[in-house]
Amino acid sequence: MKWRVDVAVQTPAHSALGDVLSYVSGVEVTPGALVRVPLGRREVLGVAWTVQAADADDPPSLALKPVTAVLDALAPLGESWRDLVAFAARYYQRSLGEIALAALPPQLRDLTAVQLARRLKRRSAVPPPDVEDAAPAALALSVEQAEALARLDAETGPFLLFGSTGSGKTEVYLRAVATLLQRDPDAQALVMVPEINLTPQLEARFRERFEGRFGAGAVVSLHSGMTHPQRLASWLAAHGGTARIVLGTRMAVFASMPGLRLIVVDEEHDPSYKQQEGARYSARDLAIWRGHREKAKVILGSATPSLESWYQSRPAQAEDAGGRYTRLSMPSRIGTGALPAVRLVDMNLQPPKTVLSGALLDAIGQRIARGEQSLVFLNRRGYAPVLACADCGWKSECPHCSAYRVFHKIDRTLRCHHCGFTERVPRACPACGNLDIAPVGRGTERLEEHLGELFAAVRRPDGSAIRIARIDADSTRRQGALESQLAAVHAGEVDVLVGTQMIAKGHDFRRVTLVCAIHPDGALFSSDFRAPERLFSLLMQSAGRAGRDAAYVSAQGATGEMWIQTHHPQHPLFAALRRHDYEAFARRELEDRAAAGMPPFAFQALLRADARTQEAAQAFLNAANRAADALEGADRVTRYPAVPLAIQRVANVERAQMLIESSSRAALQRLLAAWQPLLHDLRRAPEGKGVIRWLVDVDPHSI
Ligand code: ADP
Ligand code: ZN
Ligand code: ZN
Repeated sequence: MKWRVDVAVQTPAHSALGDVLSYVSGVEVTPGALVRVPLGRREVLGVAWTVQAADADDPPSLALKPVTAVLDALAPLGESWRDLVAFAARYYQRSLGEIALAALPPQLRDLTAVQLARRLKRRSAVPPPDVEDAAPAALALSVEQAEALARLDAETGPFLLFGSTGSGKTEVYLRAVATLLQRDPDAQALVMVPEINLTPQLEARFRERFEGRFGAGAVVSLHSGMTHPQRLASWLAAHGGTARIVLGTRMAVFASMPGLRLIVVDEEHDPSYKQQEGARYSARDLAIWRGHREKAKVILGSATPSLESWYQSRPAQAEDAGGRYTRLSMPSRIGTGALPAVRLVDMNLQPPKTVLSGALLDAIGQRIARGEQSLVFLNRRGYAPVLACADCGWKSECPHCSAYRVFHKIDRTLRCHHCGFTERVPRACPACGNLDIAPVGRGTERLEEHLGELFAAVRRPDGSAIRIARIDADSTRRQGALESQLAAVHAGEVDVLVGTQMIAKGHDFRRVTLVCAIHPDGALFSSDFRAPERLFSLLMQSAGRAGRDAAYVSAQGATGEMWIQTHHPQHPLFAALRRHDYEAFARRELEDRAAAGMPPFAFQALLRADARTQEAAQAFLNAANRAADALEGADRVTRYPAVPLAIQRVANVERAQMLIESSSRAALQRLLAAWQPLLHDLRRAPEGKGVIRWLVDVDPHSI
């Protein structure tokens, strides 16, 4: 007796090989089992997808290569997991094998059946932990928290937990998880957060809450900052059911969890849930799909929900049956009750070239004098975005990209933030030899320096020197640097913290009473229709860092403040922000989007081509466009002309894209699916000459 096994393996991107490859096995293989199979000259890991008895003399199966090994020490991946992978592959236009293998821990690829069996044995040899009840003294829930929890328990969802910054959403997640785990000894919960490194606090809170009650291995993490052995260990614990809680970033949405009953997506609006390379999936959207498939409850939480989720949670009204999500609101802040006051500084009234207005400097000075902290937020790292020659007009362009190289003063380099090309800063203008080349504009590094000069003479209440620190991708590159810098802020060693959006998100800084955004205007007039949404949520999140602790607010006679320096103080976005009125902002944005027929009222995809020349990239897209004309249902989908990307050239590759849009998600999906084979063919046709790669981005985040 023989079996024909169709196996999902990682085939090269865009290869013409089908979704699964067929092999033959002399033993029966369970679908979902991990197998090792020959592929070309290599032997690779794969997932058995479908298995059928094959006639031993059947000529087609005689020609198949045999499965090399079945990793049967591991329970096969469940049907619901395979369904999730298949759905993601279909929806995001990727191959099954690519998604399946990317969803497995990388180390699994290198283990033989024997090594894996040994690892699993070692794991199960670990003695069960002492289960003693070390639950911390219970907080009394706020009325809003209690109400949200009651509805989470009673209704099916999916839920949008719309709670202000500091309203205690995390406590709601913790309780919802606790209730579930206590009720059902096999239940597992998946808790996703945008960037786990930014919130070591959250991980600590989960461990503290659950390890005492459910054992030391009850909480595992899953994110890209872990080593391969750590990731494998977490994954095995989730798959084996010993981990009751998986805390992870977007990749965790694919964790195999046989007892999954609850999925939390914290800060669901965060752009990092959308994968930006390879399979461009949205972990938030997949969480909703997965919850539905596995009958697990899904909680999306945010103070500034994505407009998609907000719209999906609209209440029923007159003709409209309402959205599919249940909206739960927690408008009040725990503790101080008050959200910070938002103050706008009209930069038109400031002397030209003002970086920090006098009033803002005074306000920061007062915080220092009271022993409180300030956050200064500027979304641009480096010293200056451009270096320029005043004589001949030379600018620090990257030779490989259509972008300027950023001046980093610390190591005196010009660095391209797109391709990484780095050079020492030239002594003189490379074009005319002028010695007087100067930085233009400013980034966090220069701002830090500037603040240092301005406050050089200022002392703390105890007479000691003040400390200004910076947190951005540059200052945190070294392993452990971010943790130690955050710890210094929490310990009160830092008076003024300068940083990029890394400091705006999630942190529960207790002593911060002032937050300011120095230069947020760029996003107001961006060509990307999601830019205002992102700016609003970033500013709300930033404001949410201020005045979180009554001890540092009312006791000092001050409230938390959010300062915004802008040239457009009349902009309606700021008016809504001043009132902390996300709902007003969302209403206005949704009206605009409805009028313009944009998401969430339409569904989009991008077809992108990268090529040696812009002409070649666009020619491919135009040919693809013509090819799509013949497809059934093409008339229900709008295809826009090919255009260069905003940053047209990166690392000497020219990039172009074409927007595809439809009011029907199904129509868009059908077109994309039918288009896929034509695109593969085109790539090999004359129209594909010079094309390096192409890709489809479904529900793209930025256009
Ligand atoms: P969010 O996630 O909504 O921004 P957090 O969950 O971080 O808010 O809560 C803000 C602060 O309030 C945290 O320090 C948390 O420990 C505290 N907190 C939450 N719920 C309560 C409660 N019921 N009573 C007292 N403090 C609470
Ligand atoms: Zn010059
Ligand atoms: Zn470059």
